Amino acid sequence: MNQIDDLPPLRDIVRDHGLLAKKSLGQNFLFDLNLTARIARSSGPLDGVTVVEVGPGPGGLTRALLANGAKRVIAIERDSRCLPILAQIAERYPGRLTVIEGDALETDITPYLDDGPARIVANLPYNVATPLLTGWLTAERWAPWWQSLTLMFQREVAERIVATPKDPKDYGRLGVLCGWRTEAHILFDVPASAFVPPPKITSSIVHLVPRPSPDTVRTSTLEMVTLAAFGQRRKMLRQSLKSLDLSGLNLDTTELIQQAGLLPTARAEEIAVADFVHLANLYDTLRNSIRA
Ligand code: SAM
Repeated sequence: MNQIDDLPPLRDIVRDHGLLAKKSLGQNFLFDLNLTARIARSSGPLDGVTVVEVGPGPGGLTRALLANGAKRVIAIERDSRCLPILAQIAERYPGRLTVIEGDALETDITPYLDDGPARIVANLPYNVATPLLTGWLTAERWAPWWQSLTLMFQREVAERIVATPKDPKDYGRLGVLCGWRTEAHILFDVPASAFVPPPKITSSIVHLVPRPSPDTVRTSTLEMVTLAAFGQRRKMLRQSLKSLDLSGLNLDTTELIQQAGLLPTARAEEIAVADFVHLANLYDTLRNSIRA
């Protein structure tokens, strides 16, 4: 099914515009509209939904989102060479595609949204995929403005996103952050051969849904604790947490860990998300008590 709309095939559009992929912008394009339609549908029914897409490029996923019924697509693209191609798509779907030229890391999307449901669906540029995800997950306001994230990552990053202590090889800071605020699943893999040019790695589509009431914790403290713990992941917590500032607390790392109900001999990869949250909250409480 390469006929999801009456626009020309992507391969022809890209050739006619001389759009050579730039590695520096993480450009690996999808030309198979069957695959982009599968990605679009995997975020759930799109009727009445506004979709934010980062990096539309020549618009393969954008077209699939619109053809599958998204009320609106708001697309942020850094490469101005893509704008004339996206303008053609906007003309085909009047009033439904807004293109913002800019860097997604620097762009506040919220002024473009209306009151209806919104989701983020994207074949992300690999060079900024993790900082973008981290930014969405550390938002101060929770529940966030998005209902779900449906995103393409390198397979190995996808495995780190969904990892728990049951997957000690992949479990780390990203898994704690994602597990704290979302439920995350890998939906399916996308082979390198699906992209132009093909990257060296397999990719995966990950779907993340915000937890309605994640445990309360200061994000910066949670990140500080997991940075210390996973920074020396082969060491026991009583050693790795020594990089935390315990001055004035009158306890050492062993006592801190015991007060949190954990074993000082445990390693970071054995600690569940809820226990990291508990440890971070205890650390904050102790530090606040000496400031009071
Ligand atoms: N969505 C298209 C597809 O599936 O064929 C293109 C995906 S390509 C992996 C990533 C896209 O993100 C490119 O079009 C690239 O120009 C764009 N991009 C790279 N860095 C960006 C940034 N910081 N902000 C917005 N777009 C960016």
